[in-house]
Amino acid sequence: MALAEFRLIDRYFASRTHERKDVALGIGDDAALLDVPAGMQLVAAIDGMVEGSHFPVGTDPSAVGHKVLAVNLSDLAAMGAEAAWATLFLSLPQADETVAEAFSQGFFGLAERYGVALVGGDTVRGPFTAVVQVQGFVPPGAALCRNGARPGDEIFVTGTLGDGGAGLALAQGRLQASGPDADFLRERLERPMPRLEVGLRLRGIASACIDLSDGLAADLTHILTRSRVGARIEVGQLPLSDTLMRCVPDLHPRLDLALFAGDDYELCFTVPPAAVPDLTAVANDGRCPLTRIGVIEGEPGLRLVDRDGGIYTGATPGFDHFA
Ligand code: ADP
Ligand code: MG
Repeated sequence: MALAEFRLIDRYFASRTHERKDVALGIGDDAALLDVPAGMQLVAAIDGMVEGSHFPVGTDPSAVGHKVLAVNLSDLAAMGAEAAWATLFLSLPQADETVAEAFSQGFFGLAERYGVALVGGDTVRGPFTAVVQVQGFVPPGAALCRNGARPGDEIFVTGTLGDGGAGLALAQGRLQASGPDADFLRERLERPMPRLEVGLRLRGIASACIDLSDGLAADLTHILTRSRVGARIEVGQLPLSDTLMRCVPDLHPRLDLALFAGDDYELCFTVPPAAVPDLTAVANDGRCPLTRIGVIEGEPGLRLVDRDGGIYTGATPGFDHFA
């Protein structure tokens, strides 16, 4: 490792990390030594982002630092896990202090909020790429898996859907928005907030859970396949933000963003009817909006039903509303 990379790690990563008592040995040795709390199961996930593929060239590096950690924490949230540690692989074209500084600011802004310690990583020269691995804990048997949905379970989502996709359309010049609406959509695309608190509160309540990275239809289908069930979604119930309503005035493009676009990082989960009343505590006085969008059925497949009870087909695959 060259001196420049060493200074970069030391200055922008090693010295900035949050301290945790369960980190016996953090950054600086050949590997980290970590104490898993007695009786807990370790939960691990990894996700990475490559410039040009997962974020546009020219994206603010602090947004990249935030998002690469956020998408990982979102996976822990979807498992009902408490977040603890992260490791980071960072590839930069040059040992660029401005980029490293901004990246670490975005990364640690989010890490601190959830008490996550960066305990190691690797820094190399190459195309701008960031890969994060996270670890967290759940009590054995308490993880929220994809295979637990049963016919009759009600389907819910957190927050609003379609904003991430609209943010991408805006970034790519396919959608027009300005002022606070543009800021909101950009924020939703670049700085999603993982639903960790909700995931924790869903332990013992949700029968299945997934985070929405590829769009509701695709991600819910993962639950359906793993659980060997089907679902009916009432598209008129999908929660949409005021910004999305304003910026995408036509119904079909709006619903297609909510159903198929991805990048929302909200949670989609199923709840047995008997446990639905317990959701009042999960919503935490309305601080996390939860919306019922449909029901699990025995018949395999995903049925999207519109207001008149007809089948909603959406746009033809590949059709671009904003082209
Ligand atoms: P090695 O050659 O043993 O892999 P390195 O020189 O790559 O060691 O790294 C030195 C120390 O710095 C290690 O503890 C490693 O985990 C840490 N480290 C390197 N890059 C990063 C990074 N981007 N973020 C956090 N820790 C890092
Ligand atoms: Mg190394």
